[in-house]
Amino acid sequence: MPKILIIEDEEAVRENLLDLLEAEDFETIAAANGRIGVHLAISEVPDLILCDIMMPEIDGYGVLTALRQEPSTATIPFIFLTAKSAKSDFRQGMDMGADDYITKPFTRSELLSAIMNRLEKYATLKRYLSPQIVNNNLSPKMQLLEISLHRAIKQHNFQEFEIYYQPIVDIASGKIVGAESLLRWQSPELGMIYPTEFIPLAESTGLIIPIGKWVLKRVCQQIKSWRDAGINSLIVAVNLSAIEFNQPDFIHNLVNFTSVNNLEPHDLEIELTESMIMQDVNSAIATMSKLQSLGVKIAIDDFGTGYSSLIYLKNLPINTLKIDRYFIHNVAKDSQKSAITKALIQMAHNLNLDVVAEGVETEAELGFLRQHNCNSMQGFLFSRPLPAAEFENCLFTNKCLYV
Ligand code: C2E
Ligand code: MG
Ligand code: MG
Repeated sequence: MPKILIIEDEEAVRENLLDLLEAEDFETIAAANGRIGVHLAISEVPDLILCDIMMPEIDGYGVLTALRQEPSTATIPFIFLTAKSAKSDFRQGMDMGADDYITKPFTRSELLSAIMNRLEKYATLKRYLSPQIVNNNLSPKMQLLEISLHRAIKQHNFQEFEIYYQPIVDIASGKIVGAESLLRWQSPELGMIYPTEFIPLAESTGLIIPIGKWVLKRVCQQIKSWRDAGINSLIVAVNLSAIEFNQPDFIHNLVNFTSVNNLEPHDLEIELTESMIMQDVNSAIATMSKLQSLGVKIAIDDFGTGYSSLIYLKNLPINTLKIDRYFIHNVAKDSQKSAITKALIQMAHNLNLDVVAEGVETEAELGFLRQHNCNSMQGFLFSRPLPAAEFENCLFTNKCLYV
């Protein structure tokens, strides 16, 4: 973990900083005055320094001057801590070559975001200065993301997560027939983080297993509450990662979550990608068949972007093909995309599969899909993914594709 040196003479502030940083798993060293601070910076070579400006003997400017003259410490990111009243102080500090400043009192997220930005710049600089050193480690930003993800799950018990629902609409009738559940993470220190950013990290750290379990559980509870409110025949799709799909207790958990909520398995659709299935076709087919025999629906997500496994398609136990939004974007005008999309719809229908077009953004795209008998659509044209309550509102007001 990055090592941070805190140089601060006020004990209360120093302790507070130590607590905050240690809670984030940073390695910390502290100095109660400028002289010790300079000494520790040279002997320990930290990755970042937080330094108070107003200190007796050697003040913050003195520390910065001393460190900038020493080759081993000259480039270490240096952040000044200043009192609110002292605007001219920070100007002077920045002019002397400090990298950033934080005014006291600061919030946890201000502190962390300043640290993260500086560490990231420093990592880039180090790579640039020594290109022969291949850095296999995570960037500071990814490290912070990983720490925050761990904490969001283990300490904060998923409170920072929310499941959004994007309507899936029947093209012929214009009515909502389903929803895709899409995970969102609102991190207090990093802001809104999208799944394309944190799912790969969750997969590489194994955190996807508790996350996936939580998603499945919450989605089942949500369907139950919609059933209780009189909303029937709405199919909710859940995205799976390969790791979750290959967990030995995956089916057991799914059955458990549906049965405790009195749901029918066909209320759920599982979205798998071609590449997940192709990793080990036989074992995937076995799991998919088991799911299907229970009544759970199965969709192939992002179809067309993975292996073009057309031969396998007829042997796969699936219900739905979701055409990737790459093909749908501008489909009415791009002759190659329209030829492919037409062929995909036709082929899926010959195999008795439903077809959902993903990422429909324009009337022209919708018109093309309607003309070629695509069953359903999903996309910003009708609605973005929504928090559960807003999605529910669309249902209660009978929001329709055609007005
Ligand atoms: P996906 O399953 O293909 O989901 C569709 C993505 O397209 C969503 O991105 C959605 O917000 C976006 N989208 C929908 N309509 C439009 C449109 O008209 N235009 C454009 N440009 N985009 C549109 P999102 O929510 O960022 O999710 C990204 C991916 O993250 C998903 O792709 C899925 O693979 C994964 N993911 C999301 N939630 C979960 C989850 O709970 N578990 C797992 N394992 N993966 C998830
Ligand atoms: Mg999906
Ligand atoms: Mg998709």
